[in-house]
Amino acid sequence: MAKLVYLGLGSNIGDRMEYLKAAIERLSRARVRVLRASPVYETEPVDYAAQGWFLNQVVEAETELFPLQLLAATQRIERGLGRVRTVPKGPRTLDIDILFYGKAVVRTERLEIPHPRVGERRFVLAPLADLAAELRHPVTHHSVREMLDSAPAATVRRLTELG
Ligand code: ADP
Ligand code: MG
Repeated sequence: MAKLVYLGLGSNIGDRMEYLKAAIERLSRARVRVLRASPVYETEPVDYAAQGWFLNQVVEAETELFPLQLLAATQRIERGLGRVRTVPKGPRTLDIDILFYGKAVVRTERLEIPHPRVGERRFVLAPLADLAAELRHPVTHHSVREMLDSAPAATVRRLTELG
C-alpha cells in the first residue's frame, strides 16, 4: 500500500538550489514518487547559528517503502550528494528529514516519525503549509497552520512560486 509522505529538504553549502533539484530527481529514482514540491524558502539557521542561510523545501510523495527503508533511501541520497556529518546541526550540502509518513507514529533510536521538531521549525512549517496547511499531526492533532501560527519567530523568505 502506497503511503503519502512529507519530506523536508535543506541545503546551506554550495549551489543550494541545485542540491534541492538533484534530491528531488534522486528521490523519484529511489521509489519515492514526488507528487508536489513546495516553493523554495531562504531561511536563517536556527539550531547552530554560525553558518550560512539555508534553502528549504518540502515535498509530498508517495512510496511503498517502509519507514526504515525510506530513511535508508534518504540517507543514501544525502551521502550521494556529498553530505559529510561534522558539526551536529551544522552546515550540509543536503539534509532530508522525514516529517510525516501517513498517520504513522514511529519512535525508535534511529527514526522518529513525525519528525520530533516539526512543530517548532518555521523553515519546515512554512513550506509545508503551502502544500498541506490542514494536515494534522497524528499525536498532537494540531494542524500545520496552527503549528506555524505558534512556532517561534525565525526569518523565512519565499523565493519561488508553488510548482
Ligand atoms: P538534523 O536533521 O537534526 O540536523 P541529521 O540529519 O544529522 O540531523 O540526522 C541525525 C539522525 O536523525 C539521523 O542519523 C537519523 O537516524 C535520525 N532521525 C530520526 N528521526 C528522523 C526523521 N524523521 N528523519 C530523518 N532522520 C531522522
Ligand atoms: Mg536530518
